[in-house]
Amino acid sequence: MSQTPTIAVPPQKILRDALKDVRPQEEGDQAYEVVEALYPICRSITGDGVRQSLRLLQGTVPLQIREVPTGTQVFDWTVPKEWNIRDAYIKKAGDRIVDFQRSSLHVLNYSIPIAQRMSLAELRPHLFTLPETPDWIPYRTSYYREAWGFCLTQTELDRMEEGEYEVYIDSTLEPGSLTYGEYRIQGATDDEVLFSCHACHPALCNDNLSGMTTAARLARLLDGVSLRYSYRFLWIPGTIGAITWLARNESILPRIKHGLVLSCVGDSGPFTYKRSRRGDAEVDRAVEHVLRHSGNDFEVLDFTPYGYDERQYCSPGINLPVGCFMRTPNGRYPQYHTSADDLTLVTPSSLGESLFQLMQVVQVFEENRPYLNLQPKCEPQLGRRGLYRQMGGIKDAAAREMAILWTLNLSDGRHDLLDIAIHSGIPFHQVSTVADALKEVNLLRPVE
Ligand SMILES: [Zn+2]
Repeated sequence: MSQTPTIAVPPQKILRDALKDVRPQEEGDQAYEVVEALYPICRSITGDGVRQSLRLLQGTVPLQIREVPTGTQVFDWTVPKEWNIRDAYIKKAGDRIVDFQRSSLHVLNYSIPIAQRMSLAELRPHLFTLPETPDWIPYRTSYYREAWGFCLTQTELDRMEEGEYEVYIDSTLEPGSLTYGEYRIQGATDDEVLFSCHACHPALCNDNLSGMTTAARLARLLDGVSLRYSYRFLWIPGTIGAITWLARNESILPRIKHGLVLSCVGDSGPFTYKRSRRGDAEVDRAVEHVLRHSGNDFEVLDFTPYGYDERQYCSPGINLPVGCFMRTPNGRYPQYHTSADDLTLVTPSSLGESLFQLMQVVQVFEENRPYLNLQPKCEPQLGRRGLYRQMGGIKDAAAREMAILWTLNLSDGRHDLLDIAIHSGIPFHQVSTVADALKEVNLLRPVE
C-alpha cells in the first residue's frame, strides 16, 4: 500500500489576515526601542553614522546596504565627499564647555576639521544658537559649502566669557561613498509600492528616526505575507539620496504604482497627508480615505515643491504617485530641527498607530480593483444566495446590506472598490469584504 507523502507548508497569510494580527502597541514599543538605539549615532548625508544606523535596522529587517562612490554624477548633482567625525569640543581652561560626546547636534554637520586657539570674538561667527528657546541646541548643516561650526544653547553661549578658547573638530571630508539602505519584497507582480524615508539627521527623533523605524517595522510585517504588489523600502540621505537612487534606477520607475515618503510619524499630533504632485493618484485617495475612517483628526495638504523627498519623486521629469505621510509636518512643531526633537517627543503608541494606519493603506493597495456586476438588470435576489449571514468584519446587518447595495450598484467596471468606499462613506475593508462574498456567489467578477 503506497501513501502519497504530504508536506505541510503553511499557506502564506493574505494581508487582511496579517492586519488582524497587528498589535499596534507592541509594534510601537519595538519601534521605540530602535529609536532609542539610533538616537546617539551621529548621522549625516554620508559616513559611518549612516552605515551604523542601517546595520542597526538590520536587526528589524535584513535590508541591503548600498554604496555609491564620491564623484558619481546623478542628474544635476554629484555624490559628495564622505564625512566622518570622531570628536569635537570647545575647551576653556581645560574644560569641555561644548562637547560633541554629549550631543552630536553640537557640531555643525559636515564641519571640516579644525584645531586652533582663538578669542571669543573670533569664535563667535562659528557659533549657532536659538535665542527664542535658550535651552535648545539647533540642528545646522553645511553640506555643500566647506565650513566649521558649533551649535549650542543660548544659555551656554551667554555663560561664555572673554578669553582664549581651544577649538577642536576631529573630522574628515574625503572621497568615499554615499550609503543607503534598500529592501525589496517580491509580490505576485513586479508592479511596486515604494516607501522612502530620510536617514541623514543626527539626534532628531521625530524628524528622521520615527520614519526609519516605522519603515523597518512595516517591511517586517509585510515580509512573508502573500502580496499582489512588490514592496520597495529605501532609507536614504535626504535630497542627495533620493536623487542618487532615482538617477540609478530610472528603468524601475514605470513599475512604481504607489509610494509614500514617511517622516515625523512619532509625535502625538494629528495625521497629516501631503498629496502627490498628481493630486488624484490612488495613493492620494487611499490615504485620505483611511485617515477619514481612522477615528483621529487629520489634515490633507496639496503638493508643494518643498518638504521631504517627495520633492524629488514628484519633480516634473519623474512625477511618481508618491505622497508624504506624517503626523505634525516639518516646521510646524517648535521642537523641529532642535535638540528638543528628542526621545520625549516621540511615543511608542504614536509610532504604533502610524504603522497601523499604513498597514490599512497597504490593504487598499492590495485589494483595490474594479469589479463588474454580473446581474446588473435590477437588483439580484440576495436572500436566496445567503448573503445576509454574518460577514467577517461587519457585524451590523444594516451596514452590511448598505455595503452590498453600494458595491453592486457601482460595480460597473468603471469604479474600483476605493471609489465605492469613498462615494458611499463605508470603510474600504467593509466594501472589500462584501466584494469577496459577492464574487463567491458569482454576482461580481474582477475586471482586469
Ligand atoms: Zn529635517
